[in-house]
Amino acid sequence: MPDCGCSILLRPTKSLTLFIQQAMRSMRYVPGKRAVIIDHVGNVHRHGLPDLDREWTLEPRPQRTKENLVHVRQCPECYFTHYTAPECPNCGHIYEKTREEILEEKKKQELVKLERRMEHVNSPADCKSVKELFALAKKKGYKPGWAYHQAKERGLLS
Ligand SMILES: [Zn+2]
Repeated sequence: MPDCGCSILLRPTKSLTLFIQQAMRSMRYVPGKRAVIIDHVGNVHRHGLPDLDREWTLEPRPQRTKENLVHVRQCPECYFTHYTAPECPNCGHIYEKTREEILEEKKKQELVKLERRMEHVNSPADCKSVKELFALAKKKGYKPGWAYHQAKERGLLS
């Protein structure tokens, strides 16, 4: 329906194909048209945005994991739904960082610090922590058990 510019979803569905078929009715291309999809039932949170690149297969559907969760966000200011981003692309609202995002950032910073430090560490005597011993074991291609024993010997583990 090229004239249809707005889809209003009132029927929750677990069927991805039904969701796409309903939501995309307003997305048939017409120059200058901007489709609006009003989803009253949260289908987008179950299936992701309708124009998401999907890998279609005849294999059984994979279990939901953290990696393949639907990554959409709804702006509390304008209710625009979009792919996860630090800022709403519609109104510019800046989201507060979630606990997971803060933890992920901290982990990355610690990893960069450790990698920088490990450039100068070549023997167990240079290591100041258990983490560094494990990083040295990895760097040298040793098993984690080696780092464990080194840590025990140096009194870093009790
Ligand atoms: Zn917004």
